[in-house]
Amino acid sequence: MGRFRVAITDSDYGSHEVEEEVLSSIGADLIKFQCRTEDDVIRCCSDADGLLNQYAPITRRVIEGLQKAKIIVRYGVGVDNVDVDAATEKGIFVANVIYDVTDVADHALSLILSLVRKIVWADRNVKENKWDWKAVQPISRLKDKTVGIIGFGRIGRKVAQRLRGFEVKIVAYDPYAPRETFREYGVEKVDFEALIKESDIITIHTPLTNETRHMIGEKELKSMKREAIIVNVSRGGIIDEKALCKALKERWIAGAGLDVLEEEPPAKDNPLLRLDNVIITPHMAWYSNRSLDEIRRKAAEEVARALSGQIPVNLVNKDVLKKLNL
Ligand code: NAD
Repeated sequence: MGRFRVAITDSDYGSHEVEEEVLSSIGADLIKFQCRTEDDVIRCCSDADGLLNQYAPITRRVIEGLQKAKIIVRYGVGVDNVDVDAATEKGIFVANVIYDVTDVADHALSLILSLVRKIVWADRNVKENKWDWKAVQPISRLKDKTVGIIGFGRIGRKVAQRLRGFEVKIVAYDPYAPRETFREYGVEKVDFEALIKESDIITIHTPLTNETRHMIGEKELKSMKREAIIVNVSRGGIIDEKALCKALKERWIAGAGLDVLEEEPPAKDNPLLRLDNVIITPHMAWYSNRSLDEIRRKAAEEVARALSGQIPVNLVNKDVLKKLNL
């Protein structure tokens, strides 16, 4: 038996040698679960010293049930499934993993290009013996289009860098990013309404918060151009999926590229799965062989730090330091 017990609440990574290697250096045992619900996490993880978490809900009730946890680490950037305030009140560190988000930006670009160039539909046609470029008409040229980036943080900025070579106009909406950042990246800072109305392509890169939940709803989808496309590699909850379905069905907009959904994996009868003007990937924007290794290592290192009496490097709830008199 190790000195500590570290629980993986859930993970679809397959193997965890990286975490095991890091955590064995502090004498911690790693116990793996596949929790889906609050009750699963409470049942499996309440006696853990540290939690590594992918998607399982770490709600207030879960946190109140943790008997000795010092740290909760989210495998990734978003912490929308963790009740950060409850953890702060209980004196538990919450850390996320800041990794090289190049792959996420590349994925957003892939969805944009696939939609604009109609790659998926052309490929399907060819495999059905339809060798005819006219079958995917019309395709309008990407050059000179306006791309609107919502959320101009790490990923939004990398998307802007990548878009530059395509000779598009780039506008962005982010009320919290410094004005100089927009200038530095050659991007025009616009307000939300202008971005929605003027963009030919909208790409979403904000965290999911109370403010951003359903920030794209019926009103916004109706205000977008009819030829516009929308790409979301951030979190499903930012787009009201019911409204998006209606918009795609009734052609208020031309198409959507989604790496994230409100419910993941989607229910078999999710109507989005039956629409022909949407491309969906299974929450994989973060993934490349390099990022998979980096995320697991960094997450385990945060747990090791906290259990060795150090402060995590990517502490999300800085207020917890006051609570812990650190
Ligand atoms: P970041 O913190 O660097 O950037 C987020 C930006 O969003 C910040 O500049 C912030 O000011 C802005 N923002 C916050 N609230 C806003 C609002 N109401 N309106 C407009 N902008 C707002 O984060 P990041 O590393 O760029 O990641 C962004 C999100 O992408 C993460 O929170 C995560 O949910 C998601 N993500 C998804 C994947 C994936 O695999 N699909 C991978 C990594 C990250």
